[in-house]
Amino acid sequence: LMSRVLHIQRAVTHATHHEETLELIAKMAGEMFGSDSIAVRRVDNPSGRSLWTVNIDSDFAQTIPLIDPKLGISRRAMDENSIVIDRDYRPLHLPDQGRTVSAIAAPIYCQGETVGAMTVLAGPDRDEPHTEEDQEALIILAGYVSVAITKAAATEELERSLLEAQWRASHDHLTGLPNRARIIEIIEAQLSQGLTPVVLYIDFDGFKSVNDLYGHVTGDLALIAVSERLALMLRAGESIARLAGDEFVALLPPGSDQDALAVAKRIVEKLAKPLDVAGRDLVLPASVGIANIAATSAEELLEAADLAMYRAKSLPSESIAFFDSALRQDRTRRVLIEQQLRLSLVNMASFTLNFQPIVEGPEFEVCAYEALLRWDTAAAGVVSPDEFVPVAEETGIISQIDEWVLATALRESGLLSGGKSRVSVNLSAASFLRGYLPSLVERILVLSGTPASRLAIEITERVMLGDSQLVRHNIGALRDLGVAVVLDDFGVGYSSLSYLQDLEIDGLKIDRSFVQGATGDRRGAAVLRAVLSLAADLGIETVAEGVETREQLELLQSLGCSHFQGYFFGRPAPVDQLMRQSSEIAMAGPLVEPR
Ligand code: C2E
Ligand code: CA
Ligand code: CA
Repeated sequence: LMSRVLHIQRAVTHATHHEETLELIAKMAGEMFGSDSIAVRRVDNPSGRSLWTVNIDSDFAQTIPLIDPKLGISRRAMDENSIVIDRDYRPLHLPDQGRTVSAIAAPIYCQGETVGAMTVLAGPDRDEPHTEEDQEALIILAGYVSVAITKAAATEELERSLLEAQWRASHDHLTGLPNRARIIEIIEAQLSQGLTPVVLYIDFDGFKSVNDLYGHVTGDLALIAVSERLALMLRAGESIARLAGDEFVALLPPGSDQDALAVAKRIVEKLAKPLDVAGRDLVLPASVGIANIAATSAEELLEAADLAMYRAKSLPSESIAFFDSALRQDRTRRVLIEQQLRLSLVNMASFTLNFQPIVEGPEFEVCAYEALLRWDTAAAGVVSPDEFVPVAEETGIISQIDEWVLATALRESGLLSGGKSRVSVNLSAASFLRGYLPSLVERILVLSGTPASRLAIEITERVMLGDSQLVRHNIGALRDLGVAVVLDDFGVGYSSLSYLQDLEIDGLKIDRSFVQGATGDRRGAAVLRAVLSLAADLGIETVAEGVETREQLELLQSLGCSHFQGYFFGRPAPVDQLMRQSSEIAMAGPLVEPR
């Protein structure tokens, strides 16, 4: 017995397949008990049927799963949770139904729970019933069975949780798509085979507003819905992953730019269709950046596609862009500007204002100045507002800047023309689209002791992308205060003549590209005439921007334009310089001819 037990013990300790161990134990039991009817049965499933059976008699094996275990001795051992001996057992499976044998059964355990039993029927050569020693031997054997299956269960559990952990580490829990780590793995694997996949970076425009408007639950549902949409569009050899937030990546097999563009277009078109999310129709247009380049790492490809996506976002009329290396410099510059902007906010010392005259009537009298922001930084030099204002807008810094401009413009412009001329201040859409803007403007006016009639606010049509009710409300409230509201850059972007009718505004500024293109272009001049006459009919004052030459001026005058701004009349300049100029003019006599 000892040597057998040692053998079994070794098998249990070293076994990797517990079925083999159980077979070994059954075989040993067969030898020990001189029986070929040995069963190790596991019945811890809800139906009560044997889950599995190991024994050495194949007939026995076939019949056992069919026997109702409730009737068998195995079941009794399980129910009584102890060894059971029946010297007059009538096994149902034996052909000779009348014969009885001595049977003995011991429960087996898995992780402390009774899950089955090991049963021994006395063999044909054995007349004497089972002895005390037999019982002890069976308890030992059943004990080893329990150890073997407990060990197997623990191993299985470990493997399952390892697999689960692996899955979790490589997939996005919300959408079930591969995550950033996984897609990097996939790309690296392809690169190591000498294949460079085409990477499409997909980002939804304005996804943040879904969360803001409808809450995160709806936001999550929307992400699941778009990920399903994307996954459905995949073809063989393509994969899709969620990197973070509303950013997804699609991998395409190596191919031409045209192929990649076709896929990108399909994605953009598909995503532009309304999506039903929890009973709401959401429209979530996307921008796609394409990297189809030679690369040595997954990070390089993802970064390139990301940069291309940013490029696509910045283009007003395109939602797809390809990567090119200039974008890398753009990004570096952008990061520098953002850092410098944040530094400059500390005391605003690197910001100054220039004022550019706006003239009126046949005498070209200065009726207003436009305040134009200047930014002189140590690290990036003098940066044009065309470059830093978009960065300030994207990062939300702009509101603070615009507030400073408002207050400073009112204060400084008070020194010009004896404090009589109007000052025109640019407000970006982000600053304008705030419910408290009118009261903020009112407070700044009061603090600076400036009458509201001296202030004009320039907004662009981009405000129309925001909440149109808020736009109307703010325009109305500002005009009620007595502040003029002027539509800037008319003629570019989203320009529509209908805005002129819809919006209750005081004036519009015709963009300089329009003014400069109109001379020598009959169609340009015709559009200009149409805009000017419509504005005149609506009682809207029109300023032509960017007037640089006499020719432009004369054309504009002939079309009925009455207000002008541009280098022809004066460049933007700091207030002290303008004050010097006007005192010089005062000494030299009235301003007759513009330079
Ligand atoms: P904008 O409002 O259209 O301002 C007019 C721009 O045209 C100014 O450029 C001005 O210097 C320039 N300009 C004026 N006359 C002429 C001309 O005859 N020929 C040419 N070629 N250009 C002329 P600037 O100062 O570089 O400003 C660019 C843009 O930056 C502005 O366009 C405005 O959109 C924005 N910006 C400027 N200051 C501010 C500000 O304080 N706040 C905000 N939010 N945006 C500002
Ligand atoms: Ca302006
Ligand atoms: Ca303008």
